[in-house]
Order: sequence, then structure tokens, then C-alpha cells
Amino acid sequence: MTLTKKPETRPAPNSWGLVGGENPWEYAPAPEATDHIRIEPEYGLFIGNQFVRSKPRKTFTVINPATEEPLARVAHASRADVDRAVGTAREAHRSTWSRLPGRERAKYLYRIARLMQERSREFAVVESMNSGKPIKESRDVDVPLAAAHFFYYAGWADKLEYAFPNRDPRPLGVAAQIIPWNFPLLMLAWKIAPALAAGNTVILKPASTTPLTAYLFADVVRQADLPPGVVNIITGPGEIGMELVKHPDVNKVAFTGSTAVGKMIARAVAGSDKKVTLELGGKAANIVFDDAPLDQAIEGIINGIYFNQGEVCCAGSRLFVQESVYEPLIDKLKARLSTLRVGDPLDKNTDVGAINSAGQLAKVQELVESGIAEGAEIFQPDCELPTRGYFFRPTLFTGVSQSHRIAQEEIFGPVLSVLTFRTPDEAIEKANNTPYGLSAGVWTEKGSRIFKMVNAMRAGVVWANTFNRFDPTSPFGGYKESGYGREGGIHGLGAYLDLSGDGRNGR
Ligand code: NDP
Repeated sequence: MTLTKKPETRPAPNSWGLVGGENPWEYAPAPEATDHIRIEPEYGLFIGNQFVRSKPRKTFTVINPATEEPLARVAHASRADVDRAVGTAREAHRSTWSRLPGRERAKYLYRIARLMQERSREFAVVESMNSGKPIKESRDVDVPLAAAHFFYYAGWADKLEYAFPNRDPRPLGVAAQIIPWNFPLLMLAWKIAPALAAGNTVILKPASTTPLTAYLFADVVRQADLPPGVVNIITGPGEIGMELVKHPDVNKVAFTGSTAVGKMIARAVAGSDKKVTLELGGKAANIVFDDAPLDQAIEGIINGIYFNQGEVCCAGSRLFVQESVYEPLIDKLKARLSTLRVGDPLDKNTDVGAINSAGQLAKVQELVESGIAEGAEIFQPDCELPTRGYFFRPTLFTGVSQSHRIAQEEIFGPVLSVLTFRTPDEAIEKANNTPYGLSAGVWTEKGSRIFKMVNAMRAGVVWANTFNRFDPTSPFGGYKESGYGREGGIHGLGAYLDLSGDGRNGR
């Protein structure tokens, strides 16, 4: 990377390299090239390994949230298209996929994983252009992890009877999978890789704002020679997702998104024999004790809430700091916040990219205004934002009380609410005071305290002295209003299998 020194002479910087809150160094632009990618002007629905027009022919526009420029038009599926996709997936399950031995399914999954690695630059650039996330995150986190999920589940495809001994594991049949816009490719991999390894066929509905890496993945599916109909991708609004969920020939529903829609889906499938996993919202507590290594904790806090612009279901959006280290920690946090670079997602030096949509930006702004109105104290670094696109300054609120909306509601943006505590029991009580229970973080040098906290936190994942670490082998999922079921690891495989032994599924 190139560094260009500003010409003026300035006093010596402090330990963060900052002078009076300003950065004396400017990074020269380092944009990722886009000439190696090809975005089609229009995408049809991907059914039976073909891109087909929706019936009746209808499309909608997908934009780049960092520029507000259109990227492509995509098909708007109808009820008839849902029927067509489910029928195609059913036929592929009956005639091909459920009949293939596990080792043959594994070969396809390995092939997909390798192709994703080979085309990783393409995936990373398209993901950043379509979602607004910084290229360093899509390049170093989303795409490698997505490929890793296919490698991992490929390894299980021929070992299902060892994963679930004495259980006669059988595929469920056809899976309907609905994914959100914050990790479009990664959520696709979380859903499709275990489903295919277990012998199911799928229909995936990406979020309407971020379908482009799913359509790039469709190209990989064809390149890998996957039998037609095993993976189908349809685009359209939420109602189309609901048509898919309710379709009588769907055996499994997997959803990641808001708690409100998750509840609607749970109601829609109640009384049916569909197997369901729901990955919903969160309001994670990140708890820092006074014996924690503060500089390391600062990096964990920053990664916990500003990674992916805070548009992360398990984001560490509530920071609990032990009172005795409150002041030094907040000073360090503000200084570190001031070094974050906000801007062009395709610039390799960008830390915080664009918010995914105008609607999401409005939601973040409204909640931040509520924080100010309810009396919390706001801190935002004095960084320049691009004049176009949906950008928001990384934000820190101190003086937050538990009743404030910014401490209760999922903001899904780069906004951190800081609260304090004195004793471990107080930290546990405050941290668990939320309807959500997806994740939590604990920062302390004491191993025994980590065990106490991990056992007491009502959260599906608890990180100790780190945050936002993901691995395909590790299960992920929630308590309470954060949903039910687990994705990842052997648990995520079980969610796509009939283990009852009664053979009702796997038709
Ligand atoms: P949604 O839950 O509406 O969207 C997630 C997915 O569900 C999208 O594919 C969406 O399609 C689809 N969907 C929407 N309505 C229905 C429905 N009635 N039946 C079936 N599928 C449906 O999230 P939003 O995009 O509206 O975001 C709102 C809030 O939800 C965010 O501010 C955030 O707080 C939270 N959220 C949480 C996520 C998580 O990972 N836990 C992910 C995304 C959002 P379409 O895009 O076409 O509407």
C-alpha cells in the first residue's frame, strides 16, 4: 500500500499516531480491479441448471449501495415459478440426488469448493459491489469461509452413518432456504453445503437487494456439472419466500433474517411435518472485566461491532465494561474509532463500507436519533463520508441505560452502546436482560471466570477473549427470540436429515 504524507508540519502524534483527533497520514486510494468480473445486464431464475424467465415476465433492479448505481435486473418470481422450482427440485431428488452414493455427492461438493476458490476474486468483488461490505472482508472472510463450508460438508457426505451411529440417516427431500443480505454468499454456503451433503435438493431465495453472488454461484453449479435441479435459485420479494415456505412439497425450511419474519415462518409451518431452522436477530453482550488485556479487548470490540458495518446478527452491540477500567477503555476506544476508514467498499484500505440499503440506513438513523433523544451521549469520529451511497459514521454511545431503545433493539448498523457493571453477577444479569440470545463475548485473564460466564450466558455462542470467530466445524444458533436449530458442524448436518428411523421423510 502507498502512504502519502500531508505537507503541513504537525506536533508529534500520540501513541495511536493521531494528532488532536486527526490522522496526519492519508492512504492513497487502493481500489480492487473490477475488469475481471462480468455482471450480466439481466438474470433469469435458475431452475434445472438453466436461467429461465419468470412467468409472467417481470424483473426488478439491483443496485450498488455504495454508489446507488444499478448493477443488473433480476427476475421477479411468481407463485407459478415457485411451483416450477419445487417440482424440479423434487424430480432431481427422486431421480438422481437421493440415489447417488455419498462419495459421489462428495465429489460434486469438493468440485464446487475448488471452483469457488479458483473464482474467489470474482466472488469477492461482486459481493462487495452488491452488499456494500469492504473488499478486505469479502476477500478474507466471506469467500474463504464459504468455500470452507463446502469442503467441510463434502467430507461428511459419505460418512453420515458414522456421524449418527445406529440412526439410519436419510435425506429429508426438498429444502426451501431463505437468506438475508448481510452475508449473501456465506449464508448460501451455510444453507446449501449441508443440505447437499445430506442428500437433499434445494431452492434458495436470496434477499432482494443481494442476489448477485447467488447467480455467480449458479454458474459454478453448472461448471461443476451438478445434476440439473439439485440447486435452484429464485429471486423475488418476501411474499415469494413465504410461498416457498408454505409449498406442500417442501420438507425442510431454513431461514436466516429478522425475528419478525422468523415468527411468521414458524406460524406458517406449524402443524406441518416440515423440519425448520430459524437463525434470527441478536443483541449480543461483549463483557470486559478489569483484568482483561485492554488493547486486545479494544480490537475485539471494534471487530465485534464495526465488522460488516455492524450488519451482523451476532454483532457485539452492547458493551459492558467493569467500572474500574471504564475511563481508560473508553479513551482507547474513541482513539481507535477515529482511525477507522469509512468509504469505498472496493478500496483495500476501507474498514467500514456502505450500509446495504436506503431502508436499512433510515432504520439505523432513526435508532441513533432515539439514543440521543433518550439522553445517551454520542461519539462519532470526524471522518468524511462519500457524497453518494448509504454511509454511516461508526458510532459510540456512552451513558446508556438498559431501558434505552439502543440497548434493547437490534440496530444492525455500526452503533455501539456502552454500559457498565461492578460484579460478575451484575454483568450476567444485565447481559441476559434481552429477548435475544445469539452470541456473547467475555474478556478476562481468569480461566475460571470464563467458565462461570459461559455457563451463565443465555447465548448460543460465547467467545472468550475474541469475537466474531467462525468455523465450519462449529455449530451456530440461538436461544429465545434468536431462533432455534443449529447450523455448522455436525449439528448443521443433522438439521438436514431424518434421524427418526420411521422413514416418513426422504420421499
Ligand atoms: P427480513 O427478515 O425481511 O429478510 C430476510 C430474508 O427473508 C430476505 O430474503 C427477505 O426477502 C425474506 N423475507 C422477507 N419477508 C418474508 C416473508 N414474509 N416470508 C418469507 N421470507 C421473507 O429482513 P430485512 O431485510 O427486512 O431486515 C430487517 C431487520 O432484520 C434488520 O434491520 C435486522 O435488524 C434484521 N436482520 C437480521 C438478520 C440476521 O442475520 N439475523 C439478517 C437481515 C436482517 P426480501 O429481501 O425479498 O425482502
